[in-house]
Amino acid sequence: MKCGHWIGAEHRHCGATDNVRPYLTGPCCPAHTPNALKGLPEVQPGPGMPAGAWTTPSPINESRIADARAVASGKRRSNPEAYRAAQAATNHTTT
Ligand SMILES: [Zn+2]
Repeated sequence: MKCGHWIGAEHRHCGATDNVRPYLTGPCCPAHTPNALKGLPEVQPGPGMPAGAWTTPSPINESRIADARAVASGKRRSNPEAYRAAQAATNHTTT
């Protein structure tokens, strides 16, 4: 597999064969991948997503309330102290 990138200035195809991988635009060497040509960091192959890829910004207070309710209702596993504290907290706000 050869890099198919056309180097206009030199009127030739790149033709590099080192680390050439198939891309939507055809086989490309690392210097001529679609991302490299756009000046973007290369997407690395392999398992896993970038850290934080699926994190959504959410107010911390809301998640804390949801946690306390889940603990109090017994849906969420926790230690007895946290369970009692959560029940006290939710009872305090609901009655
Ligand atoms: Zn190339």
